Amino acid sequence: FNIDIPYNEPVLSYAPGSPEREELKQAIKEARVAERELPAFINGERILDGEKVAVHPPHETAFTLGHFYRGTTEHVHRAIDAALAAKPTWEALPWQQRAAVFLRAADLLAGPFRARMNAATMLGQSKNAYQSEIDAVAELCDFFRFNAYFLQEIYRDQPLHSPPGTWNRLEYRALEGFVLAITPFNFTSIAANLPAAPALCGNTVVWKPAETQIYSAVVIMELFEAAGLPKGVINLIYTDGPAVGDIVFKHPDFAGLHFTGSTKVFQELWREIGNNISGYKTYPRIVGETGGKDFIAVHPSSDPEQVAVAIVRGAFEFQGQKCSAASRAYLPASLWPAIKEHVVEKTGSLKMGTVEDFGNFVNAVIDERAFDRITKYIADAKEDADVEIVTGGNFDKSDGYFIEPTVLLTKDPHYVTMEEELFGPVITIYVYEDEDWEKTLHLVDTTSPYALTGAVFATDRGVIEHASKALRNAAGNFYINDKPTGAVVGQQPFGGARASGTNDKAGSALNLHRWISPRLIKENF
Ligand code: NAP
Repeated sequence: FNIDIPYNEPVLSYAPGSPEREELKQAIKEARVAERELPAFINGERILDGEKVAVHPPHETAFTLGHFYRGTTEHVHRAIDAALAAKPTWEALPWQQRAAVFLRAADLLAGPFRARMNAATMLGQSKNAYQSEIDAVAELCDFFRFNAYFLQEIYRDQPLHSPPGTWNRLEYRALEGFVLAITPFNFTSIAANLPAAPALCGNTVVWKPAETQIYSAVVIMELFEAAGLPKGVINLIYTDGPAVGDIVFKHPDFAGLHFTGSTKVFQELWREIGNNISGYKTYPRIVGETGGKDFIAVHPSSDPEQVAVAIVRGAFEFQGQKCSAASRAYLPASLWPAIKEHVVEKTGSLKMGTVEDFGNFVNAVIDERAFDRITKYIADAKEDADVEIVTGGNFDKSDGYFIEPTVLLTKDPHYVTMEEELFGPVITIYVYEDEDWEKTLHLVDTTSPYALTGAVFATDRGVIEHASKALRNAAGNFYINDKPTGAVVGQQPFGGARASGTNDKAGSALNLHRWISPRLIKENF
């Protein structure tokens, strides 16, 4: 049994008339007629009790897709008990048996689950077919396959010297206790990987998804079940976040938090864990990927059209609801007129609308709270004499939460939208005088507390080298002459530092190491 270096799952095109497009249309049709009951999964049992809550597509709020049941605190206790009960058997399996479950899940997802997973992500989270295919199918298959390969490499690695008469070895154990996964709405693949990566390493998990991602979360549980994941290894519950934390963070067997979401929530959770720190059997591992204020910094030697493509794709793909989305750009005065022309032209050509129309590039943002938050920034910008709306600026929530891709231009490099994460289709541009490149690098580095992704555009190697050094701590994923988004598992391990997270690099062996507790064994002969 040897896992070769995996390939990245090919992204299907969904071209008009292609078999995948026809299959997906059928899956969407089926999803639309069946108002689904979306159960919690505890110990393999489907649970349908609690407060009944309707789920609507963000782009079509009058339509009901299904219902979930907001769980009680009893669900949290049951999920913890199920995880602890499943642990000894799951952990004792040879790692190959655990890996086989996730490798099978990848094959099922690339095959019979593909259309269903895409339909759930498209309708539930308002992603078009291409966005969903990249996220919920390709990236998720890659997480499963690459993590299995990385685990094999970790187990193989015995970097110890054994003098004659002794044998030193490392035993790679799961953490002692259970892991809590708290996941965001914006990527189905992240939501699935957060419970799956610790489970692959022998842990058992309580998984609390975002309420706005529950539709695809249920399909993920069905996929795990079809792949043969034993009952109780991953338990999906919908109890309110604070109620989950109240119980989990006081439990002596709490052994780790795998979190992706906002910086504010992560910091609250860390504080709660800190407050209970002497109550745990073992120090919990805390892994969190959080917010971003991702930059594009452009040197005067750059190509204006290449920069414009990076701005438009980096800021507006996935409705800007990517932690890596470009949301502040620093452009030289000499290039601004040419870049502006390309940006306005390209942004103007983006079609916005529902996900069922395959021609739409921009879909709805996730919910009313996000819509109101993002549009408040746009409304304030319209009132500010020092801010220009270069393109976009319109929004409407009468049918769904639609916000036009919007480019703001500010004279103040510390304007609020240069500093705060908006998490929507808005980018703010600051134009600097060409001779101020050095000052601009300092601004890039110091303007926001985040350090997730960033891109520098330049042609001169000396300039690139210098910018790379000056921005060494400004981004966990640093791009040269490319947009700051689109990390691929196995190619660009992903994560940021500062207020952007613990930088444990999802999609790499570094992340898996956090779910393993090695034991050193020395034997004398
Ligand atoms: P969020 O509001 O922080 O929610 C994340 C998760 O935390 C959800 O499951 C949420 O549940 C839960 N939660 C909220 N308050 C809680 C509490 N007091 N106790 C326990 N759980 C709680 O984030 P989001 O809006 O889903 O996602 C967007 C954020 O994620 C952005 O800041 C983005 O940058 C970040 N993100 C980062 C990365 C990365 O790799 N760095 C990747 C993706 C997203 P409810 O939905 O039930 O409130």
